[in-house]
Amino acid sequence: MALDAYQGKRNFMKTSEPEGEVGKIEKKKGGIYVIQKHQATHLHYDFRLEKDGVLKSWAIPKEPPVEKGVKRLAVMVEDHPLEYADFEGTIPEGEYGAGLVQIWDKGTYETEKWDENGISVFINGGRLNGRYCLVKFKREQNSWLFFKC
Ligand code: MN
Repeated sequence: MALDAYQGKRNFMKTSEPEGEVGKIEKKKGGIYVIQKHQATHLHYDFRLEKDGVLKSWAIPKEPPVEKGVKRLAVMVEDHPLEYADFEGTIPEGEYGAGLVQIWDKGTYETEKWDENGISVFINGGRLNGRYCLVKFKREQNSWLFFKC
């Protein structure tokens, strides 16, 4: 199941993150967009897009670009439940991802293109707006480049 990796990493008796389940799968071109600032061992930004009943997720080690010309590494991580888009709080010490999670930007997006090598979307957020691209590195499994395009 799509959330096994997510649920397997967490102890829901200890963290206030949602356990979640896969949401209704609809053939829709877009949905929820959110970026959470996550002050874990290393500060990063978790970029998430709703697709197929879950949030497809990437960790971006530096602040996401609001202007063209800045490219950021985005490391694909496990799918998260849709409810995670509303999550803010502190994951306790000793738990997976321990540290403060805050919503940094939120809104909606529409898909222009989405396949295994590349994604382009139109983001309608507070900080990020316009067309964004994710391009997969050919030789690395989970590494993508994220930029305004
Ligand atoms: Mn994170």
